[in-house]
Amino acid sequence: MSLPPCQRLEPACLYCEEPVYAVEPHKIVHAVLLENGKPTGRRRAAHRECVLREVVGSVGCQRGECPNCGDPPGMSRREAARAAVAFWEAAGGPRRGKPGPRS
Ligand SMILES: [Zn+2]
Ligand SMILES: [Zn+2]
Repeated sequence: MSLPPCQRLEPACLYCEEPVYAVEPHKIVHAVLLENGKPTGRRRAAHRECVLREVVGSVGCQRGECPNCGDPPGMSRREAARAAVAFWEAAGGPRRGKPGPRS
């Protein structure tokens, strides 16, 4: 990623701690922050793949390998999220299996 720092929308993604860039709106989700399970009204930007990974689970989860379903070794949090989303979409995405983010 070689975008200039001025394009950063937030200091970091809610989930993976990597920068979120304003020039990639299609990749950004604004998550409402929760406190004790209740919405606080505050929002924080996160990568689409990171939010989806929280919903559909890691690649291991989707393969039914729980509880030994940790992220693949050598992958960053975001790389593992991308892999999880790719796996989920290859398996049919929101049409079957685990629910999508809005269901
Ligand atoms: Zn992220
Ligand atoms: Zn799991």
